[in-house]
Amino acid sequence: MLACIPTASLFGVDADPVTIEVQVHSGLPCTTVVGGPDATCREAKERVRAAFASCGFEWPNKRVTINLSPAWQKKRGSAIDLAMAVGILLASEQLPAGSISGYAFLGELGLDGAVRPVVGVVPLAEAAGGDPLVVPAAQVVDAGLASSRVVGVGHLGDLVRALKGEAPWPLAHSPKPGHRRAPRPDLADVRGQAVARAALEVAAAGGHHLLLTGPPGGGKTMLAERLPGLLPPLTQAEALEVTKIHSAAGVLPVGAGLLDEPPYEAPHTTASAIALIGGGSSQLRPGAISLAHRGVLFLDELGEQRPVVLECLRQPLEEGVIRIHRAIGSATLPARFLLVAAMNPCPCGEGGGRRCRCQPGERLRYARRLSAPLLDRFDLRLHVPRAEPGQLLGEAAGEATAVVAARVAVARRRSIARGTSINALVPGSRLDELAPLDRAARRLLAGLLARGGLSARGLHRVRRVALTLADLAGADPPLTEEHVGTALGLRAELATLQAAS
Ligand SMILES: [Zn+2]
Repeated sequence: MLACIPTASLFGVDADPVTIEVQVHSGLPCTTVVGGPDATCREAKERVRAAFASCGFEWPNKRVTINLSPAWQKKRGSAIDLAMAVGILLASEQLPAGSISGYAFLGELGLDGAVRPVVGVVPLAEAAGGDPLVVPAAQVVDAGLASSRVVGVGHLGDLVRALKGEAPWPLAHSPKPGHRRAPRPDLADVRGQAVARAALEVAAAGGHHLLLTGPPGGGKTMLAERLPGLLPPLTQAEALEVTKIHSAAGVLPVGAGLLDEPPYEAPHTTASAIALIGGGSSQLRPGAISLAHRGVLFLDELGEQRPVVLECLRQPLEEGVIRIHRAIGSATLPARFLLVAAMNPCPCGEGGGRRCRCQPGERLRYARRLSAPLLDRFDLRLHVPRAEPGQLLGEAAGEATAVVAARVAVARRRSIARGTSINALVPGSRLDELAPLDRAARRLLAGLLARGGLSARGLHRVRRVALTLADLAGADPPLTEEHVGTALGLRAELATLQAAS
């Protein structure tokens, strides 16, 4: 008898539907798995065989052929275990024919028959379909984000009894949806740093990448951590997209529900290229830049990052995706993030002042580690000095995150009303139409261009930031000298930043 069981297989952040075909026929007892299984899929039959022994099911004493269809596609991971077990039970008539019509199955089997959670349950559930879809009990909430009817099982024995109608469906142990997340840090905690706070607001409102330089202890990390709180909450579609990526990376906490806040990723300087960019030898897992999709990526000590990592950032910064090509296959992973980078002004961190221990040559070499094209991606570049003791102790708390986020939301609505998502992405060809300049602003920029103080690309970036400043001020174009002047002030050259230390 032939059994066909729907399930799915994960690759990158997407999953593909897979049908497990099982045929039990006469011949020497032997089990073969065909149809592009990877090592983990090939081992599935051993896990299923052991689970059968634990549950008291019989392994057919015949020839068993298991085909993972479509055969041309590579299948990866252990999520097909449960479907394979059900297929063998059906093909060997230990389950009545017709008992599983409409069902799809996802789950890894333990040798004792336990149904274990799988990596990527959200995209897998979306691909597997099924009415109902049977998933590991612990993942009912997560699978439910992508599938309308989900039932959870904890053990293969329970599943078979329920399918035969001998026992009710086990009540899925479903953790409470939307588990409590740690509260985000608030901008009110940042004392002083008026310019940096303003730059954060502009970055959030216009989606402008931000480079912060300055000595250690200036609060660069503290500022970056508060940026996601200023971004508008994710829409339902965006939240599902982000949740799928985190699920595929295996970092979605069980029962987390939908991730509806912009994510914040701060990979350590020593993180491997795979951890940052994505990849891996058996599964193509998304890296930190994809986990930061629709949120904030914070790279500390940009000057210490390896050149290969900095080079890999160019594609996502330009296209919002990262394309990964490996022997196991190629994938395009989403990676549209707001980049905040921090950099010490020199290797010792003091940046030329009295306490600096670096030679002038060393400082120059350090600055040159960032290529001009990468540096050019930062619309906002500013120096964050160490806060004065008086500011840290005396000054009143700054504006709270909620107050600034409300202004950001208003500014974003203005850019959406113009038909553009964020100002940082306004094409250069539309700047004359969307961000016209008044006469004084034009004169200011023309002077800079004539003196070689601004490149053509830099000019576009300054106009985009000026447009965001106008949006935040509630002013309609044309952009004034004040908008343009402020935008220029928020885009210091690296040499100036070093000198400021
Ligand atoms: Zn130094």
